[in-house]
Order: sequence, then structure tokens, then C-alpha cells
Amino acid sequence: MTDYRVVIGSMSHETNTFSTVKTSLEDFRPKYGEEIFDTLRGTRSGIGGYLDVLEPAGVECIPTISAGATPAGELRNEDYWYIVDYIKEGIEKAGRVDGVLLALHGAMIAEGVPEAEGTLLREVKKIVGNVPVIVTLDLHGLISDLVVENCDGIFGYDTNPHIDMYERGVEAAETLLAAMKGEIKPTVAHKKLRMVPPTINQRTAEGPMVNLLELAREKEKMPKVLNVCLFPAFPYADVQRVGSAVVAVTDGDSELAQKVADEVGEKMYSMRQEFLKPLTSIEDAVSIAMDASEGPIVLADVADNPGGGAPGDGTEILRELLKKGVRNVGVACIKDPEAVQRAIDVGVNGVFSMEIGAKTDDYHGKPLMVSGTVRTITDGRFIHKAMAVGVPADVGRTAVIDVDGIEIILTERSHAPNDPEIYRRNGIEPTDKKILVLKSRGHFRAAYEPFSEMVLEVDAPGLTTPNLSWFIYSNIPRPIWPFDKV
Ligand SMILES: [Zn+2]
Repeated sequence: MTDYRVVIGSMSHETNTFSTVKTSLEDFRPKYGEEIFDTLRGTRSGIGGYLDVLEPAGVECIPTISAGATPAGELRNEDYWYIVDYIKEGIEKAGRVDGVLLALHGAMIAEGVPEAEGTLLREVKKIVGNVPVIVTLDLHGLISDLVVENCDGIFGYDTNPHIDMYERGVEAAETLLAAMKGEIKPTVAHKKLRMVPPTINQRTAEGPMVNLLELAREKEKMPKVLNVCLFPAFPYADVQRVGSAVVAVTDGDSELAQKVADEVGEKMYSMRQEFLKPLTSIEDAVSIAMDASEGPIVLADVADNPGGGAPGDGTEILRELLKKGVRNVGVACIKDPEAVQRAIDVGVNGVFSMEIGAKTDDYHGKPLMVSGTVRTITDGRFIHKAMAVGVPADVGRTAVIDVDGIEIILTERSHAPNDPEIYRRNGIEPTDKKILVLKSRGHFRAAYEPFSEMVLEVDAPGLTTPNLSWFIYSNIPRPIWPFDKV
């Protein structure tokens, strides 16, 4: 047994700076103190992993705040500082602290604070000094000097869809434990790359990431190399630190860490063209799905992915399905609180008739007039059975309307339907459907691919389109691929 004391916190947001929807503290629905551990202990989350290592080792774990929101636009400045100050005060009030573990995203941007994670880490280091600070980050994180200089270890997800949050949490906690005992002295280096690949081909089951991860695993076999992680990164951020990176963590050898990060980084840069991938047009995708003999066929609305900061209320795929008279379709989801209220007003079996969707901005098609029957109404709460298994979800009040054989899930909040529970919780069995429309870029694959016949990535309009030429960047370093000839 030990008497180490570790402060734990979480701050997670993937900020799409092109979104017109500002993020506020309310969207984070923060949890405080012991409630964090009560909710996450035993789950497949990063903090679940921290606790599974530290608590049996007799470490006293001190909770601060756990704040995570669905991706959208910049976080309000005062709300950002509220979270940072809460973590700082938690550390100060804890008295003696032997280590800090933070579950962060890495691509968070607040108003006036483009380096949200780096600034938090700098503030934490100001208080704790030489005490080790270890972080877990999302594979879409944007790594910068400020982040690397202000922590002692980085453990990024090695999977996309991210199904290893727990395992990386375990590694981070084990590394912290060894560092507190004085067995190792972790040191971090990174190689930043002049490339901004779209997220569409950053999957880890196929495409360029497969070989790159193999190389990372090879490097981890070298003596003193504790961890190598790849950050192809989130492209929808008009900030200086946009772009891919490779991070290496070694036991006390900063030169070796830099050498490994450079080598893997150069390999990644040389493979940049492989991150590009063609999409299927809306018309072709619907025709292919209709002609398929068996389902479910997934039509992935990759450009309107709430997991990447889009509102999840685009209508153009649905418009085509209605136009072609397709039946036996499930659509998850369309965010439209006004339509949910209307469905609740008319009630189950009531006749629903109004324009739905495309109400957040002008980037996701036009509102679509539909008439149908309300099937179910729920509170929109469920427990994840895929990805962050065990972690509760709350998409706000939810209604299903049936429009000529197309069952549309309407939600109050933006939601990427990566867990089929969103269907089942609302009375739809997704495996029975011929076609499933999913507002998601790729995280749905973990749970849906095992029962789907085909996945088509559809070229609909939206804030997470892989066509990066859609966006006007003005704050990124130039030249940079794929915008400039490099
Ligand atoms: Zn991610």
C-alpha cells in the first residue's frame, strides 16, 4: 500500500471553429467531486481506467471536475476559466499532491484561448511544479509546444473509433504510479507536421493509420520508449496549432523521445495523400442502398457529424429518400427541439406535420416539410453499450415520427448515433431496417459494422465535410498540405 495522493479531472471538447453555435458551461453538464467517481468507476472511460489502477494500489484519488460537451463552436471565455479555476482550486485545496491525471481532448478552443489544453496544463504546472502531470488525449487532439512542455506524459487513443479510452487511462495511471514511486521519469517530445488530413480516412482498421500504428508499436519495443502515439488530428479548427503530430514518451531520455517522434512523424507526412478518400453522392448512395438485396445499408452523413461539431440537423439525405419513396429506413438523428415539442403536443399516434431540420445554420440543407405519425416519445436517456460502455447519455427529449416507412428520430440535443441504443431506446430495432442514416463520420463503425451489409460515406453538405476546400482558413500556418503545394 502507498499513501500517494493524485488529483483527477477531465475537460473535453472538440471545437469546430466554423460552427456558429457557441459552447457554454451548461453544454458540459459538469460533474463535481465524488459524483465523478461514482458515475465513472467500473466504466470503459478514461477515468474508469485511472481508478482501476490507482484505487487497488491504495492511492488516494481526489476528484475535481469532469466536464465534456458534444463538439460545437468555441467555448465562452468565462466558462473556460471556470473549469480551469475549478481544477486549480481542487489541486490547491488538496494539500500535498503527488501526481495529477487529466482526461482531455486536445482540440478544445475557447474564446480568446486558442490553446485551451496547453493553457490549463501551464496553470496546473505553476502550482504543482515537479509533481508529474499525465494526460490522456483524443486521437484528434491538436498537439502544441505548450501542451508538451507542461506535462510529463501523453497517452493518446490508439483506436478510431475510440474504443480504447479505458486502456489508455490504465496506461496513463500505471505510468504515473511508477513515476511517483521514482521507478521512471517520463519525458515527452513531439513532431508537428505540416499536414491537415480530413478525418474520413483516419480510421485505425484500414487506410494509412494501420501501417503507422504498426511502426509506433515497433518503436515502443525499444528500450526506454514508454509510449508512441499518433495524432492525425481534427481539421476543423482555424488556429495556429492545427495539423497532425506524433508524440513519444520515454523514460528520462528526451533525445530519444525526439528521435522517435521525428522518425514516425516523417513517415506519417510521407503518407499524407493516403488520408484522402472519395465520397458517394447523395443520389448514388440512395440508389445503391435501394438496389441492395439485403440490409442494413448504412448511409453515413459524414458532413453533419455532431461528433465533429456539426449540428446534426441536415436534411438532404432524408429529402432524397422521401423523393424516391424508400421505405423501411431509420434516421438517427435530426436535432430539432421545436419538432420534438410538436410531437409531444400531438402525442403518440398523433398526426405530425411540420418543417423539420436545417434550422441551426445555412450549411446543412433546407428545412424539410414532412407529414407522418408520432410513434414514440422518450426522455432520451440511455446507458452506452458501445464505445464508452456504461457511461450515461442524455440527448434530451426524443420523438420518433414515421413518415411513409421512414422512421426519423428527432432529438432536442445534437447527437452522433454511434451506439445503436439510440434506436433501441426509442423503439426501433436497427438490424431490421433496410437503410440506416447515421449522422456520424466513423465512430458508428465499432457497433454497426458487425450487423451492416455495407457502409456508404455520403457527400452531403455540412460543417464536417471531408472537402476541406469548403472552408476559409485564415489563422493556420502556411504553407500546409492539402491547401498548398508542399
Ligand atoms: Zn476523436
